[in-house]
Amino acid sequence: MIKRIGILTSGGDAPGMNTAFWAVTKKAFREGIEVYGIFEGYKGMYENNIRKITGKDIERCYERGGTKLWSARFPEFQQEEYRQVAIENLRKNEIDAVVVIGGDGSFMGAMRLTEMGFPAIGIPGTIDNDIKGTEQTVGFATALNTVVEMIEKLKDTADSHKRAMIVEIMGRKCGDLPLHAAISSGAELLWIPEHKWTIDQLVNKATQLQDKREIIVCVAECYHDEIPELMRKLDEATVFEPKHQILGHIQRGGRPTVGDRILATRLGNRAVELLIEGKKGRMVGVQNNKVVDHDIIESITEFEPNFNEELYNTYKGIMR
Ligand code: ADP
Repeated sequence: MIKRIGILTSGGDAPGMNTAFWAVTKKAFREGIEVYGIFEGYKGMYENNIRKITGKDIERCYERGGTKLWSARFPEFQQEEYRQVAIENLRKNEIDAVVVIGGDGSFMGAMRLTEMGFPAIGIPGTIDNDIKGTEQTVGFATALNTVVEMIEKLKDTADSHKRAMIVEIMGRKCGDLPLHAAISSGAELLWIPEHKWTIDQLVNKATQLQDKREIIVCVAECYHDEIPELMRKLDEATVFEPKHQILGHIQRGGRPTVGDRILATRLGNRAVELLIEGKKGRMVGVQNNKVVDHDIIESITEFEPNFNEELYNTYKGIMR
C-alpha cells in the first residue's frame, strides 16, 4: 500500500512540469496519499532536500512555467553508491515510491531506482519530444508555440532586409521541434537529422527561392557547428543576407499551453493510479490519444523513435 510518494523534476526543464506536479499531488491527495517534494531532482534526493507538499504549494501550479520543484543535472546518480544514499534518504522520509518528471536521462535514473528495489514511475517532460513510448512529451506544445512566435517576429525583420534567417531550434538530436515549427510557420527550408540534407542541397533550394523577400531555415541544434558553412555558402550563392539566430533557452520558458496542461494532467493522474495498482519501473505516455504505460527500460532500449514521417511528407508536399 502506497501511503507517501515523492515527486521530482529532473534534467532539462519544460513548461507543464508544474502542471504534472499539480496533477500528481491532486490525485494523491484525493486517494489519501501524502506527497513529498524532492527539490533539484536526483541531487536533492542525494542531499535529502525533501519536504512535505501541502495544498498551498500547488496553488495555481497548473498554469506556471518552469518547475517549482526545481531541476538539476546530477551525473553522480549514475553511480550506485550515490543512488544508495538517495534511497536511504527516501526511506528516512518514509516515502514508498517516486514519480520522476523528466527526459530519457531522468528515466534511466528512475529505472535504476526500481532495479535497486525502489518503485519509480516516469512522466515524460521535455520540450524535445524525444521520448520513445509517447507521441508527445509535456512541454513540447508550449515550446513549439514559442518557436513559431519567434519565427514570425524574425520574418518581419527578414523581409525588410531580404534576409535568410537560419533559426537554430532545440531538440538535441530529435527533429520534431524544427519540423513542427517549419510546418506551422511555412518555413522554406528544414534541416533535421532524420532527413539529412547536405549543405549544397539546402543552398541549391535557396537559389530557387530568390524571388522571395525572406526565407526561414529551421535547423536542429545538432547542426550548430555546421551553420557557419551554410551561412558562407548561402552568402556566396544567393542574394539573401544570412543571419544565424539561436533561439536558446527562451524555448523552455513560459506558461504551459492548454494542450500541455491537459497532457500533463492525464499523465500525472495515471502515474498515481499505476503506483496504487502496485506497478513500478513504468513510464506513462499517449498513443493514439489514449494514455498508455510501458516498461521504462523497454521504451528506452527497444522502441523505435516516433518521428512523424507523415508530417514530414506533408511539409515536403506543400513546400515548393
Ligand atoms: P533529461 O532527463 O532531460 O534527459 P539528463 O540526460 O541530463 O536530462 O538526465 C537528468 C539526470 O538524470 C542526470 O543529471 C542524472 O542525475 C540522471 N541520469 C541520467 N542518466 C542516468 C543513468 N544512466 N543512470 C542513473 N541516472 C541517470
